[in-house]
This record gives sequence, structure tokens and C-alpha cells, in this order.
Amino acid sequence: MTSKADIALLDGFERALMNGRLHMVYQPKVACETGEVERVEALVRWDDPKHGTVAPSRFVPLAERHGLIDPLTQWGLRTTLRQWLEWRRQGLDTCIAFNISALSLQHLDFPDLVERMCRALEVPTDRLVLELTEGATQPLVKLMDTLTRFRIKGIGLAMDDFGTGYSSLLQLLQLPFTEIKIDRVFIRDLPRSKDSCVIVKTAIDLAHGLDLTVTAEGVETIEQLTLLRQLGCDVVQGYLVAQPLEAGELVPWASRHKRRWKMLVKPPEEPRLRRHVEANALR
Ligand code: C2E
Ligand code: CA
Ligand code: CA
Repeated sequence: MTSKADIALLDGFERALMNGRLHMVYQPKVACETGEVERVEALVRWDDPKHGTVAPSRFVPLAERHGLIDPLTQWGLRTTLRQWLEWRRQGLDTCIAFNISALSLQHLDFPDLVERMCRALEVPTDRLVLELTEGATQPLVKLMDTLTRFRIKGIGLAMDDFGTGYSSLLQLLQLPFTEIKIDRVFIRDLPRSKDSCVIVKTAIDLAHGLDLTVTAEGVETIEQLTLLRQLGCDVVQGYLVAQPLEAGELVPWASRHKRRWKMLVKPPEEPRLRRHVEANALR
């Protein structure tokens, strides 16, 4: 049942979507080995005069339940592809990671639509990776046809929040994923928690055995980064590297990042300096 508060929020969200008052922010994902920017993940934001800042974890499920997820996905993807062109014009040639609700995948023609959007803006499809999370009502395995169509078009597929879905392992074997993103609940307690260390190591080894790229999300400390590099993780993302950035902040961030990455991977021994490096990384 939809509560009164949800109806008011949904109404506000629909107006924001129609009147161009949503915006996207972008969080870099960087290679563990070199610090190179591998991709940039697009995340939607809604700041509303009446409702304040509303988290996507609140309004995305509401949009899913009330038929607004397709317009949100199409607006977000078009905005992000246009932004990619602008970054490339400024000399930053990277890949885009875009979150897709499993509901949008129910339409068999959705891969064609995404391809048309890429083609219209002349963005090569191999620059796009879709991040998918299994919804409670929509096991990804039912979407095999749609996922295969994306792969045929050269679009990458990442399994988001890996480790939290109830049948992630089976899906990894059956579905044409190119990447897994280890959920941040497993990264949070590294390196202190032995259980988390075992889970993360196993996930990395498993993914590599299946030729998949591994991203660790929610990396917040140098200790986590150091361990993930030792374990052979491919890509990291999290507040240690960068918060989600406004579109115009990405290129300036990328030039500062090169210098800072060297400090992150060779942290000074002295504890006070080490804290300093960590604090800097959050800026
Ligand atoms: P997600 O795809 O797993 O995105 C990661 C979330 O973790 C983002 O929250 C990001 O801001 C946050 N995050 C990143 N690094 C760190 C870190 O180091 N520490 C902590 N504590 N958090 C970190 P956000 O932007 O609030 O998004 C929440 C979820 O909403 C996303 O989870 C995604 O499932 C969904 N979402 C966001 N944008 C979109 C969109 O455009 N379309 C769809 N369908 N879903 C979206
Ligand atoms: Ca994601
Ligand atoms: Ca995630």
C-alpha cells in the first residue's frame, strides 16, 4: 500500500523529473594497480524545495513501483552520454557505469533503445557498462535474453552489490556478466574482520576464475585499499578515492588524483602523516 507521504513524494518526484530538476553526479572507479580512471558511475540526485534532499534509495524504488522508472532511466542515460561527450572534448576519455533497474530489463527492446541512444550521440557502446542489482521480485536469471542482447552490442554488464543477492553465485555462472562489484558491507570491516577478508578474497578469486573484472565499492581507508591491492582486486571505488562529483568537478579531480594516488599507495610510515593523507583524500 502507498502511504500519504509516499504519494506526496511521488508527486514531487514526477514534477522534478518532468521539469528537469533532477541531476546526475559521477563517482570515479580507478584501477588498483595504476590508479587510472577506469569508469565513472552516474548516480541520480534530487534536491527538492519542499522535500529537501531525497536519497535515491528512497525515490528509485518508488519510481519502480509507480511506472516512472523508464522515464528516469532514459533521462539519466541521455544526460550521462551527453556528459561523456563533454568530458571527452576536455580530454578525459573514460567509460560510463550506469545503474539500471531490473524492471527496465523486462522490455526485450530495451537493448535496442540503449544502442540507439548511444548511436545518436556517437558514444561507442563499448564505453558503457550497466550495473544491475537483483530486485526481490525480478530474479536476473529471467532476463537472460535481454542481457545477452546487451553483450552482443558490446555493452558491459556488472553485477552490483555482489554477495547480497540470494543466488548471486548461480547467476554469475549462467549470465553474461563482465564485472562484479563487491558490496560495501564486505569492504567496511576490512582488514580487521577475518570473515570479511575471507569473503572478499574468495569473491576475487572466483570472479577471476570466470574472467570477470572485480570492483570493490565503499573503499574508505588506506588499509582497505592496501589489502584489496594485495588480494588482486582490479578496481576500487569509494570516498577514499573520490566522493560522487558534480559533472564539472571530474576533469579537475582527475588531474589532482594522479599525484594523490601516489601518496595513497605509498602511505608514509609515520602515523600522524598517514592520517593527514587520509584526511586529504576525502577532499
Ligand atoms: P549503488 O549503485 O550501490 O551506489 C553506491 C552508493 O554508495 C551510492 O549511494 C554512493 O554515493 C555510495 N557510496 C559510494 N562510495 C561510498 C563510500 O566509500 N562509503 C559509503 N558509505 N557510501 C559510498 P547513492 O548515490 O545514495 O545511491 C544509492 C543507490 O541508489 C545506488 O546504489 C543505486 O542502486 C541506486 N541509484 C543511484 N542512482 C541511480 C540511477 O540513476 N538509476 C537507478 N536505477 N538506480 C540508481
Ligand atoms: Ca551501482
Ligand atoms: Ca553497489
